[in-house]
Amino acid sequence: MRPDDGLEVGHPGSTSAGVRGVMESLRYSREEMGPSRSLKTLLKLNQTDGFDCPSCAWPDPDPEHRKTAEFCENGAKAVAWEATRKRVGREFFAEHSVAELLQLDDHTLEHFGRLTEPLHLAEGATHFTPVDWDDALRLVADALTGLDDPDRAVFYTSGRASNEAAFTYQLLARRLGTNNLPDCSNMCHESSGAALSQTIGIGKGVVTRADIADHADLIIIAGQNPGTNHPRMLTALEEAKRRGARIIAINPLPEAGFGRFHNPQTVRGLAGRGTPLADRLVPVRVNGDLALFNGLNKALSEREDAAPGTVFDTEFLERSCDGVEDAVRAWRDLDWSVIEAQSGLPRSDIEAIADDVVAAHSIIVCWAMGLTQHKNAVATIREITNFLLLRGNVGRPGAGPSPIRGHSNVQGDRTMGIWEKMPDAFLDRLRDEFGFEPPREHGWDTVDSIRAMRDGKVDVFVALGGNFVAATPDTAVTEAAVRNCKLTVNIATKLNRTHLCHGTQALLLPCLGRTERDARAGGDQFVTVEDSMAMVHASRGRLIPASPQLRSEIAIVTGLGQAMFGDDLGWRGMGDDYRIVRKHIEHVVPGFHAYEERVSAPGGFMLPRPPHDTRTFATDNGKAHVTVNPPTTVDVPEGHLLLQTVRSHDQFNTTVYGLDDRYRGIKGGRKVVFVNPADLAVRGLADGDTVDVTSVAADGERVAKGFRVVSYPTTPGCCAAYFPEANVLVPLDSVAEVSNTPASKSVIVRLEPAG
Ligand code: SF4
Repeated sequence: MRPDDGLEVGHPGSTSAGVRGVMESLRYSREEMGPSRSLKTLLKLNQTDGFDCPSCAWPDPDPEHRKTAEFCENGAKAVAWEATRKRVGREFFAEHSVAELLQLDDHTLEHFGRLTEPLHLAEGATHFTPVDWDDALRLVADALTGLDDPDRAVFYTSGRASNEAAFTYQLLARRLGTNNLPDCSNMCHESSGAALSQTIGIGKGVVTRADIADHADLIIIAGQNPGTNHPRMLTALEEAKRRGARIIAINPLPEAGFGRFHNPQTVRGLAGRGTPLADRLVPVRVNGDLALFNGLNKALSEREDAAPGTVFDTEFLERSCDGVEDAVRAWRDLDWSVIEAQSGLPRSDIEAIADDVVAAHSIIVCWAMGLTQHKNAVATIREITNFLLLRGNVGRPGAGPSPIRGHSNVQGDRTMGIWEKMPDAFLDRLRDEFGFEPPREHGWDTVDSIRAMRDGKVDVFVALGGNFVAATPDTAVTEAAVRNCKLTVNIATKLNRTHLCHGTQALLLPCLGRTERDARAGGDQFVTVEDSMAMVHASRGRLIPASPQLRSEIAIVTGLGQAMFGDDLGWRGMGDDYRIVRKHIEHVVPGFHAYEERVSAPGGFMLPRPPHDTRTFATDNGKAHVTVNPPTTVDVPEGHLLLQTVRSHDQFNTTVYGLDDRYRGIKGGRKVVFVNPADLAVRGLADGDTVDVTSVAADGERVAKGFRVVSYPTTPGCCAAYFPEANVLVPLDSVAEVSNTPASKSVIVRLEPAG
């Protein structure tokens, strides 16, 4: 990692966006793209005739309400990062060995610029060297078709891959004969999918942007930091606030995005005092959300007991839900002292939230990784569903659960079949469409793939985008696991650490970015994506590609299909004309009828979501399930803290655009640990000290050395550090129950003066 010599620490902010955000966007865009390229590119970002932001999955407004500049600071950074004029060509790789490059951090590696041609690292070689596309694809094809068992291959997908890329990629894996299709969703909202599928019969959120902006009376944002991770959500929240909605932010960190929002799209936002967003900041203990929502449901039950028929939506519960009696009994039996201890909140605070709840007709709960990356994550999200169901807050305007997705097409990739355990109905349709029998045995998710690689069960690892070793937990274990493979193949736009943690031999296949024109034999192509609210729309790049050698992800995947299987499934046609891929999707994936026609309309179309559309639930008995989820929490030994990994404002997932986090007062470095002043005092530590952070787990201790202590108003007993730097502390086997998502938000640590 880069030494953080220039690290400066100031005060955390209480406002977001505004002139400063605009200036940062412009500065960054100019540096990476130059003025005219910046203008040309940014004005097409998130427009109906332009391209989808490669960063988060926040939905766009309706076409008629889009502004000229329809992006946030982080969207601008993501685009500039991709559309940079910098290149890394063959001279660069001739000059720098893999070992040399491994000494650099990901920020530096990606900052070198765009990859320009396929590269090969031969067995025993020290440097990547150029390779012809045909030779590269032949090498991968031979390795995959030569496997003794197709399950010795793993196909990882990053959430940036388009619907068309994802669909052809899962087809390739299943045509080979494996369901080993781990993805970044395994590490983010798998817990949401598991909980929502079980309770309301669909693994996605069931609200729209308009529900938030125009209809909800109360919006609860739990374990999510929209100011940094989904910045244009602040515009929707501002619209909600201006019509009188209330916002409650539940978070151990008092994030700047919950303070005054200076909307850069309005004069009022740029020149005025901004709009204060959160009415109530709830400093829950890390991992205390399950207890908090149990407490809320208990408070609502008690009020319903006191005045029957006035708090619960009894008509909805009787008609559309089951399990209510058991759950109410469990809440009655709960002891407030347990709730208070686990949530870190006094009963009076929870009762105050309950006051807001009973005053609101329509409630939305949004959440992100702050809830999903805990051992009890699935139970927590089930309890949130209970909370919404009790007052009928599902399936009507301004109400419902809303997991806010991270990467731009992570939800669409899952819809397209990127999942290690797709249901038989999907596999049946795939069989009927393509005439081969897909494998039925479930594959490995991300954590199980790492275990399999570690244990020597994988020969070929293919990654469609992403930075696998930086995104995953237990860095040292994961890097060693990847190195166990015979061949590692990365399809990527820029160099990152995963490409350097290679198998016996490695290939680096450069692909087009979202911003770039995609010309194929069938003419200029567009791709499609699905946002957090299930809107599917088109994305068309316009820029001349960074190199004439680049191929689209779809062209690479279908080219590989041809190299492996001839043209048995029509790979060539799919690669030449993406309308053919969309026609197949139309036949295989529910909700995509008249795909081409509907996605060609400005703004695209919304996928069906029964709880939202018709207030129906595709569960085993057609009812939404109210469930019993006893509160649990991580037991933190004396002298230890509960650490959560977080992102900085100059970062999107594993991509680190810069070394500042101005909303938290950090400049020029990332190796920091945010600790409450009271926790520092009892340890004899002070702001500015350097500590080693040690995590403790059943299988031993892990150490992250040399972190600068930042005295910070996080909830007592908790602390935070940036990932991927802190991923080394997250044990591979520390995962959420049911979803197997790494528990990166509840790591037991102790701080010791740096050794
Ligand atoms: S909110 Fe997300 S999708 Fe929208 S511009 Fe910002 S980073 Fe991109």
